[in-house]
Amino acid sequence: MIAPSKRVNIHTEKGIVKAIFGWPAIHTRQAKEETPSLKNICLDCGCSTKEEVEKMGIHVGCVVTFEDEFMILNKNRYCGRALDNRIGGFMIAEVVRLLGREKVKLPFGLYIVNSVQEEVGLRGAEMIAHKIKPDVAIVTDVCHDTGTPMIDKIEQGDIKSGDGPVLTYGPAVQNNLLKAIIKTAEKHKIPFQRAAASRATGTDTDAFAYSNEGVPSALISLPLRYMHTTVEMCRKEDVENSIRLIYESVLSLKSGQDFRYIS
Ligand SMILES: [Zn+2]
Repeated sequence: MIAPSKRVNIHTEKGIVKAIFGWPAIHTRQAKEETPSLKNICLDCGCSTKEEVEKMGIHVGCVVTFEDEFMILNKNRYCGRALDNRIGGFMIAEVVRLLGREKVKLPFGLYIVNSVQEEVGLRGAEMIAHKIKPDVAIVTDVCHDTGTPMIDKIEQGDIKSGDGPVLTYGPAVQNNLLKAIIKTAEKHKIPFQRAAASRATGTDTDAFAYSNEGVPSALISLPLRYMHTTVEMCRKEDVENSIRLIYESVLSLKSGQDFRYIS
């Protein structure tokens, strides 16, 4: 949907080649209301023949990325492409940095995982969950800030950027772990919001929760606007509060902590 008239980088062995997603004017299009899809979008790299294209190093399978870069709006909004799922990687890296800076000695082993392929079926999380066999998993991802036009708050929940990280209730979320995180947020006065998922959370939480005979898992999400576009946007203070909440939640965990409902 967002491809038409975007500039892109085609990544080739010979380096980056510039191209564009062309789109004909409305009065020349056969079907006036045609929407962009895989059936009609195309890349134009300014060549006339197949030989010219091949000479540039372009072949089927080359990775293409949008040109759009990161920017900050009004000093407090991060904006750019693929904040989903890169901002999570940034947040957990900051948690590691904090643990190092404060010289924290944890009474348990801690793995910090920035897993790949969440968008195509939680594949990275699936693989690493089996490798690590964790006792507990605290997962982070983005969720929808529903305060923009075209999103139904009744269906999607009332989530707002600036009101803090979002804690999800759902089948993949272990309630005693979630309660512990909520207690941590309250103790450290970290603002948070609540969301509910009736089935899948659609995040790596699902992959961890249902791995290895079940792993107590919880999800700390960052509200994000315009998801899956080149102008995804989140608020700086939500990022900071998410980092703090993940950090403090890790610190609050005890070695061998029992999360069972009945023990
Ligand atoms: Zn996504």
